Amino acid sequence: MKQTFTDILKKEELSRDNIITLLNANSEDSKLLFAKSEEIRLKYVGNKVYLRGLIELSNICGKDCLYCGIRKSNKNICRYNLTDEEVLKSVKYAYENNYASLVIQSGELENKAFAERINNLLVKIKKLTKGKLHITLSCGEQSEDTYLKWNKNGANRYLLRIESSTKELYNKIHPNNKKHSFEKRIEALNALRKTDYQTGTGIMIGLPFQTIGNLADDLLFMRKVDIDMVGMGPYLEQKDTPLYDFRNTLKPIEERFFLTLKMIAVLRILMKEINIAATTALEAIENKGREKAVKAGANVIMPNITPAIYRENYMIYENKPLPSSSEILVPEKNLNKIGYKIGWGEFGDSAHFCKRFKKK
Ligand code: SAH
Repeated sequence: MKQTFTDILKKEELSRDNIITLLNANSEDSKLLFAKSEEIRLKYVGNKVYLRGLIELSNICGKDCLYCGIRKSNKNICRYNLTDEEVLKSVKYAYENNYASLVIQSGELENKAFAERINNLLVKIKKLTKGKLHITLSCGEQSEDTYLKWNKNGANRYLLRIESSTKELYNKIHPNNKKHSFEKRIEALNALRKTDYQTGTGIMIGLPFQTIGNLADDLLFMRKVDIDMVGMGPYLEQKDTPLYDFRNTLKPIEERFFLTLKMIAVLRILMKEINIAATTALEAIENKGREKAVKAGANVIMPNITPAIYRENYMIYENKPLPSSSEILVPEKNLNKIGYKIGWGEFGDSAHFCKRFKKK
């Protein structure tokens, strides 16, 4: 007998086909899906939403990913690199405003000078904040040695999106050369997972050529790697990138948004205790995008605390939300209204990580 949507939601173990059915949910069925993921979220990770102050360190990038606005070949953006003083000013803001966590994200450079720069910054940040801020790095593929040094110098978490866990799709959205090797990215992620980092990955949703089956495989991949945290968001076309040529093949933007919410919900069901971020890309589509993601199962938000004058140059995609200079958006009131609380002053480490670490 064919399983109904409700039958699938009751199952302990979801098959790939079950996941596909859940991801294909229409608006009626999706209500059941979101109710289930919210129930699991409240039971396993509670109603807190943790903050990560996002600092976009530099848009200088050595890679040429076919979807990304800060790709090396894009001549239409102004490249910047924050000074240490600028970074520390943002850090101080996060520290004084009780964020408890930071993310430092950057274009990808795999060289000694960059590795040293991050080392020095980590030391300065730890000193300034007396170790009271947990730090996530999102600085791309690096050698194992560099990852370990950064970890030793105070980075607690690392986010390296696999972008797509399907090799054929990965190769369609990246140049075909050594610098953009699928195997190398997988190796980097595995290297991170073996260290003491809370390890995060993620993907883009609604890419050209991407199928629902690919997305189901991405979720299963995250579970197989036994990841601690995930940041995934809708793909947003960027006019200065090669993938822009395929814009007419994309799902409408509202559908990519809806699919992202369903991905978050199914991931919460599959991996109950991990941290899941409601990404900025969601906010670019709908102004209460992040709140919807929280209701679907996300428990982390990343307010952008990069100095305002640089924010417009970190244009990974178009329509990126750019709050005015002094404004940093923490949607606290809206979250309170739907029963959630900001975890001010709490690290909000991944419960999944804490458990597996104690086991080690
Ligand atoms: N290069 C760093 C991170 C910088 S880019 C790294 O690899 O760790 C941060 C993320 O933005 C990427 O991982 C990618 O998933 C996302 N991104 C890039 N272009 C995008 C686009 N056009 N739409 C949506 N997300 C995009």
